[in-house]
Amino acid sequence: MIQLKGIAAAAGISIGPAYKIGKEDFVVSKEPICQGDIPFQLQLFEESIIKTRKEIIELQKRISSEMGQDEAQIFDAHLLVLEDRMLIEEVISRLKKEKLNVAYIFLEVLKKYTDIFSKIEDEYLKERTADINDVGKRMLRHLLGKERKEIADLKEKVIVVAHDLSPSDAAAMLKQNVAAFVTDIGGKTSHTAIMAKSLEIPAVVGLQEATLKIKSGDMLIVDGSTGIVIIDPDKEVLRAYLKKEEKLKGVTEGFLLAKDMPAVTLDGKEIVISANIEFPEEVPSVKLHGGEGIGLYRTEFFYMNRDGLPLEEEHFKAYKYVAQHIKPSSVIIRTLDLGGDKFLSQFKVPCEMQPFMGWRAIRFCLARPDIFKLQLRAILRASVYGNIKLMYPMISGIEELRQANKILLEVEEELRSKGIPFDENIEVGVMIEVPSAALTADILAKEVDFFSIGTNDLIQYSLAVDRANEKVAYLYEPAHPAVLRLIKNIIDAAHNANIKVGMCGEMAGEPSFLIILLGLGLDEFSMPPQVIPEIKYLIRSVGFKEAQEIARSVLSFSTGKEVEKFAQAKLKEILK
Ligand code: PEP
Ligand code: MG
Repeated sequence: MIQLKGIAAAAGISIGPAYKIGKEDFVVSKEPICQGDIPFQLQLFEESIIKTRKEIIELQKRISSEMGQDEAQIFDAHLLVLEDRMLIEEVISRLKKEKLNVAYIFLEVLKKYTDIFSKIEDEYLKERTADINDVGKRMLRHLLGKERKEIADLKEKVIVVAHDLSPSDAAAMLKQNVAAFVTDIGGKTSHTAIMAKSLEIPAVVGLQEATLKIKSGDMLIVDGSTGIVIIDPDKEVLRAYLKKEEKLKGVTEGFLLAKDMPAVTLDGKEIVISANIEFPEEVPSVKLHGGEGIGLYRTEFFYMNRDGLPLEEEHFKAYKYVAQHIKPSSVIIRTLDLGGDKFLSQFKVPCEMQPFMGWRAIRFCLARPDIFKLQLRAILRASVYGNIKLMYPMISGIEELRQANKILLEVEEELRSKGIPFDENIEVGVMIEVPSAALTADILAKEVDFFSIGTNDLIQYSLAVDRANEKVAYLYEPAHPAVLRLIKNIIDAAHNANIKVGMCGEMAGEPSFLIILLGLGLDEFSMPPQVIPEIKYLIRSVGFKEAQEIARSVLSFSTGKEVEKFAQAKLKEILK
């Protein structure tokens, strides 16, 4: 029996066999071939080019019919790589001369090409590296006769073990036989961890050596509440965890009793408790757990695990479904927040040194008004079917907000001119998740209908701690005095301008911080659906005045640890 300790990412206990998945690695061995093998290798090369070309043309056709010519043109560059005579001839001549397997030779030539392109100063040519790599991967798959092992292929209930999982890998687990997952890297608020919560599967991240210590088939216990993973547990330990699992169920059922009651403090202060979702399929879970609306609908997952971009009609259908099924409560639809740890291959965003600080979210949308407008049109069209609010992510200052609103006005005008109905009074808000926005919240508050505090990013940006990096996870402190001061500033600015302020970062669903946030005056808490009952239960157990006093006290503390300790002690006292 071996015990590993990582970062608790999504609560719950799971017991089952491990299933290790690797990276999409192309470890191409160098194999000498004899003279007689050369024709076979040449044929393999030719067939791989034909198969790759066919694959790309099919993809291009699909995108052309769904999205139009412009989008499909991206693939012309891929086809050009395949037709590059210099590249093809170099592979053939080196194959004949060096007498090595064609996959190895191809990879060597490919590396030489990407090296040359990546060193060129010209941005356009630099981006060709991504095209070459893309085509290269497709070619290698055919040359090696390999298909990528997909999570979506799982046939039995397993615990997925991986070095890292992208949010799109996690999204692929939806409806699959995944009981839990554990990873070597990642932090508590990485989007992969957030996805685990939304899929309601326990997860532990940042284990560092999970893939070294665990083999496929090993029996595992995953405790997503403590971050403990046990390999090949003894009988007694197994029994203890089965008991703990049972107990946890009991506690959850206890909290569920509060789920349909209003979230009102003992002294009558009403709070809105809403849910964060990533997929329309989660709406029933929101209702089941007593959510009063959706405080954050992350729409970027819609773009994942697919070849082309979603059509306006697909967006529209999803938003209409959510709006219709959650009304009369509201849904806050957040516009595309691509970037950071959420990469979408369709957009061909070049690799960045600092993706979280790079071409992300609203910055990307303002640079690609075609993609932005398509989503805005769909949101507006769906707005007549329920109570939809619109929210921009990662706004860093008033100018960005105005630019986004200008595009929104253009889309509204276009719909009006075509006689397409939409909610003329749709509320428009911003996420406050960049310190510059938090510090200028008074300026922003004058031009929006509401704020929603995105603590996942606000914490990483204000404390300079990568939210997805387990090595600096110890510095990621929601109760750090710097974070609390920013939150207070945002809430005060919103209330001075008479607008509501919610929070949709993970902090809003953490019991330890509840009293402080309540005391600071937060109007709405939005969280993964399954934690709603517990938070409601806690709100109903505490007085607002008492919370205000506690918040006032902790604002004078010097460290996050002191704040957290104090808040937890108060919570315990109250629950007694
Ligand atoms: C946040 O940053 O707190 C947030 C809710 O958005 P995301 O986690 O999608 O970045
Ligand atoms: Mg964010």
